[in-house]
Amino acid sequence: MTSSVSSSVATVSMEERVTQDLWVKILGKLDQKLQRSAFITWFKDTAALRKEEGILVVGLPLPMSLSWHMEHYRAMTLEIAQSIDPTIEKIVYQVDGGLKDNRDRTVDLLAVFPEQKKRKLPMKAEVKMAEGIVSKILNPRYTLENFVVGSSNRLAHAACQSVAAQPGGRYNPLFLYGGVGLGKTHLLQGTGNAILRQAPRAVVVYTTTEDFTNHVIEAIRSQKMDQFRRRYRQVDILIIDDVQFLANKERTQEEFFHTFNALYEDRKQVILSADRPPQELQLEDRLISRFARGMIADVSAPDYETRLAILQEKAKEYELFIDTTVLQFIAEHTTRNVRELEGILMQAVAQYELEERMPTVKSIVEIMRKLSRDPHVEEEQVGFEPQPKRAPTFQDVLECVSRYFSVSVQDMIGASRVREILLPRQIAMFLGKKHLRMSYVRLGEAFSGRDHTTVMNAVQKIEEKMQNDPQLLREVRAMEQELGVV
Ligand code: ADP
Ligand code: MG
Repeated sequence: MTSSVSSSVATVSMEERVTQDLWVKILGKLDQKLQRSAFITWFKDTAALRKEEGILVVGLPLPMSLSWHMEHYRAMTLEIAQSIDPTIEKIVYQVDGGLKDNRDRTVDLLAVFPEQKKRKLPMKAEVKMAEGIVSKILNPRYTLENFVVGSSNRLAHAACQSVAAQPGGRYNPLFLYGGVGLGKTHLLQGTGNAILRQAPRAVVVYTTTEDFTNHVIEAIRSQKMDQFRRRYRQVDILIIDDVQFLANKERTQEEFFHTFNALYEDRKQVILSADRPPQELQLEDRLISRFARGMIADVSAPDYETRLAILQEKAKEYELFIDTTVLQFIAEHTTRNVRELEGILMQAVAQYELEERMPTVKSIVEIMRKLSRDPHVEEEQVGFEPQPKRAPTFQDVLECVSRYFSVSVQDMIGASRVREILLPRQIAMFLGKKHLRMSYVRLGEAFSGRDHTTVMNAVQKIEEKMQNDPQLLREVRAMEQELGVV
C-alpha cells in the first residue's frame, strides 16, 4: 500500500475532478446502505483519487481507517462502483493526509447528504387489532433469530420457537421468568413477530400488565365489562409482559383469570413473563396454578461466551466495528445484565458520531465509569482471562501507558516533574517491575538515570493506591489487559 502525503496547497487535478463526480454518486448509495454514524465516521474526508485501468483508487485521510475499509467496506464500495461504472474491477486504497479537512478535494458529507428526516409514519405506540382491542406495536428489532442463545436461555428460546411453530399447542401457556434485562421482552416480542410472519392476519396482542390493568379499570368505570370480555376473546395470541405487577390488583386478577380461561379453552396461545417463577408470585392461587399448567422456562444471566456473542450481534446490528479485544473487555467486565452491555455499546456509538473516536479499551473504561453507579461492584467484577500473546517489551509498556494517558514517552522517561506526568511514570515503573521483572536499578536507568530508591517508592505508591482506589485499579488493569499480561 502506498502512502503519499500531498502538500497542503490545494491543487485539484483534472483527474480528481472527474472521479469526484463518480465518488459523490458512490457516497450517495453508501449513505443509503449504512447506518448514518458509520457513514459519516468512515467516509468523511475520503475521495476517489483516480481511475486507472479498471482500478479505482480511493483516498483515505488517516492510516488507521485503512484496515477497516479493507475489511468492512471494500466489497460494498466495489459493488456500488460497478453498478455506476461497470469498467471498474477493483478498489485500491491510498492514505493521503492531504485530504483531511480539505474541502476542495473531498465531499462535505453533512451538506451534500443531509440526514433524511425520518419518514413520519402514522405510527403510534399502539395498534388497533380488532374492535376495541389494542396491542402495543411489536418492535421489529426483536426476533427469535437475532436472539443469541446460550446455556442461560436455551430452554426459553426453544420454547418460544415451539410456540411460534405451533401456537396454542403443547406449550400453553408459556411462562418465562428471570431478572431484569435478560431478554424476556425480546423473546416475547420475537415470538409475536414470528407468529405474525406466518399468519399475518392473526390477532396478536402484546401488552404490559400495566396497560391491561388500565383497560380493566376503564371497562369497570364505563360499566362495559361484558364488552371488554367479549373483545378480548377475539384475540388469537395474548402476550402479557411482567405479570408480577398484577400483585395487589384483585379486580384485574379476576378479570385476567376469566380472560385466560376463555382463551385457553379456545386453544388460543397465552404467553407471559415475570421476574420470578409462578409459585413465588403474590397472586391468587387459582391464577398461579393456571400459569404453571403449561411450559415454564427461566432466563438467567449469560455466561462470558454468550455475552461476547451478544455484543458481536449488537455491534453488527449497529454497524459498529469494534476491535474484538474491546468487546472481550466489555464482556468480561459486565456481568449483571444484557441491557447494560447494550448501554455501553450505545455510548460507544455516540462517541463515534460526536468525537469520531474509535472505541478502545481506555474509552470503554471511561464509559463504564460514567455508567456505573457503584464503582465497587465493578471492581469485584474485575477478573481476567489470560491471553496468549507475545511477552511485551519495556518499550511496549511505555507506549501503552503513553497512549492511555495521552502523554509522550519522552516526557515520561524524561526529567519533567509536571504533575500530569507523575502518575503515568509511576505506573510505567510499576508495570515494568511487576510484569517484566526488571530490577529497580535497571528501571532507574531507563528513566533517565533515576536512583533505584525513587523507582522503589514509585512502585510501592502505586501498589498502595490500587488497594484503595478502584478507579486506578481499573485503569491499571485495562493497561495490563492491553499489554496481554493478565
Ligand atoms: P427483560 O425484558 O428481561 O428485562 P429485555 O428483553 O428488555 O429484558 O432485554 C434487554 C436488552 O437486551 C434488549 O435490547 C434485548 O434485545 C437484549 N438482549 C437480552 N438478551 C439477549 C440475547 N440473548 N441476545 C440478544 N439480545 C439480547
Ligand atoms: Mg421486559
